[in-house]
Amino acid sequence: MNYIVFDLEWNQPDDGKKSSERKLLFEIIEIGAVKLNEDKKIIDSFCELVCPQVYQEINWRTKKMLGLKNGELNQGETFKAVMNRFLKWCGKEDYIFCSWGSQDLTELQRNMKYYRMEPLSNKPIPFYNVQKLYGIQIGEEESTKNLEAAVELAGLKKDVPFHRAYGDAYYTAKLFMHMDEELLKNHYSYDLYHIPHTKKEEIRICNEKENILITRGVAKKKDITASRQMMAINCMKCGQKPVQAKIRWFSSNNKIFYAAGYCPKHGYIKGKLKIRKSEQGEYYAEKVLTYTTEEEINQVKEKKKLLQKTTK
Ligand SMILES: [Zn+2]
Repeated sequence: MNYIVFDLEWNQPDDGKKSSERKLLFEIIEIGAVKLNEDKKIIDSFCELVCPQVYQEINWRTKKMLGLKNGELNQGETFKAVMNRFLKWCGKEDYIFCSWGSQDLTELQRNMKYYRMEPLSNKPIPFYNVQKLYGIQIGEEESTKNLEAAVELAGLKKDVPFHRAYGDAYYTAKLFMHMDEELLKNHYSYDLYHIPHTKKEEIRICNEKENILITRGVAKKKDITASRQMMAINCMKCGQKPVQAKIRWFSSNNKIFYAAGYCPKHGYIKGKLKIRKSEQGEYYAEKVLTYTTEEEINQVKEKKKLLQKTTK
């Protein structure tokens, strides 16, 4: 399997409009990518400018950051033409996308939808979020480090400019090729531009620490909170067996819920469930179950008590 490490540059004009009023939130103006083979060796690269069709005015910050010359984008072709060449370049062999952060694959699909192109997929797309993986690798999971800081920290040579699609894809690939194989085995991310539609499509990610479920989309929030399956607290070490509830699900805002359970063999498990709205307007949930300590469970209990007091 090949790895397509890609990066996009996009433009959002400075016209003061709300994002909900826009036909297209971000217009892609450049696509850059590096192809790695199974052994994570660079075997090809891709870099093309896109001539804007939606917003002629380029945001001055974007222009400055990218170092765009006047009229430079006019040398590019339409998004549709560039995107079609990019997909052809990705090739017929199996591949998985890799990007710095989690936004690129969504914006790519939004732009494709805008131009009524055939969708990449109708389901969630697995990909590697190199930013997240790098954070885990260096033990700073909350790390919001930017790409340049990560490249410096990793001691990589800075031999191409940053903030352009090709350069950023290249550095992301450089960081990716040094990742632990073990880490890559169970740390896929999923782009949720298309959420799961059926129970079978629901996403489960299990690693040493976490048990994640991304549910299928439903019409109402209540369809989630009333679902035993979606709200179950399972012990993944016991093979997804539901455990005894210690703290029932509670929430302060009907968006984020907390709960806890107990497995006699494997101890305390805390749950966090977020209800989100998909691009197509359905509700779905992201449930994360984590093994924890009695101490932390007591903290959750306190939180629940406090909340009940303040809402009485
Ligand atoms: Zn267990």
